[in-house]
Amino acid sequence: MASLGISISSVAGGRPMRSLASSPSCSNNNKPFASLHATRSLESSRAPFRLEISYDRRFSAELRRQPLAAARSGPVVAAAEPEPMKIMISGPPASGKGTQCELIKKKYGLVHIAAGDLLRAEIGAGTENGKRAKEYMEKGMLVPSEIVVMMVKERLLQPDAQEKGWLLDGYPRSLSQATALEDLRIQPDLFILLDVSEEILIERVVGRRLDPVTGKIYHLKYSPPENEEIAARLTQRFDDTEEKVKLRLKTHHQNVEDVLSTYKDVIFKAKETHCCVVKKGGAFINC
Ligand code: ADP
Repeated sequence: MASLGISISSVAGGRPMRSLASSPSCSNNNKPFASLHATRSLESSRAPFRLEISYDRRFSAELRRQPLAAARSGPVVAAAEPEPMKIMISGPPASGKGTQCELIKKKYGLVHIAAGDLLRAEIGAGTENGKRAKEYMEKGMLVPSEIVVMMVKERLLQPDAQEKGWLLDGYPRSLSQATALEDLRIQPDLFILLDVSEEILIERVVGRRLDPVTGKIYHLKYSPPENEEIAARLTQRFDDTEEKVKLRLKTHHQNVEDVLSTYKDVIFKAKETHCCVVKKGGAFINC
């Protein structure tokens, strides 16, 4: 049987780790067979944490297109190039989506598409869509689908994302957005859900700062800037205040279950119980 395997594990700076959980394999008639596996450190709350995906793509695009014909005609002699990997990542504000996306993007060469970044680019460019989007973003509400859906769809269909595969961050966030993708037969191989407690998220958000020169994200307490010069130029996202993050969290909880129901066959839940992720010596440390 043609199969596609996906396994996810967190690793601790090269040290051996104990397995905590593994989610069941999943398949249906149309989707590739995916097997998900997760491990994380039990050593201490300060253990390095890194989400890692190993992707075993034995599934051939040819078989995927013609499963019945292929099964009837015996072994496939020349398999087509495997299809590129498609991943969605979701989680509440400051759950670590950006951090994990950087790692996944670097390792697997996927095109990272973040709905929030697309919207902030529209705001920065001063477009009509950007002006409308900002009104909603300031209230911690979802931007209306008529703005977001086209924006994300167009980006997904660009050649780089089609060729290299994509990592879709913060989208879909509602049933209507998920349905819009389903209607276009755009489906992920894997849906990663980051799960972090509310208390931790608020602390992360209010201390989060951006260096506009390098694009690097800092945390005033857990990952402070290296020197005074950088500290002086750090900026804060307009919606990274305690008041606004509470609204964003409420919106996330109101919508997430609807989205999960669409992708229940390919979900991997990564539970993060620690307070902050910082980069130290190449590893990600919970502090
Ligand atoms: P966060 O994950 O912290 O909410 P994002 O950058 O992903 O940060 O999103 C910032 C804001 O952009 C959200 O609060 C929301 O207003 C808007 N937004 C992002 N993604 C979507 C989406 N898929 N649909 C509607 N609005 C979105």
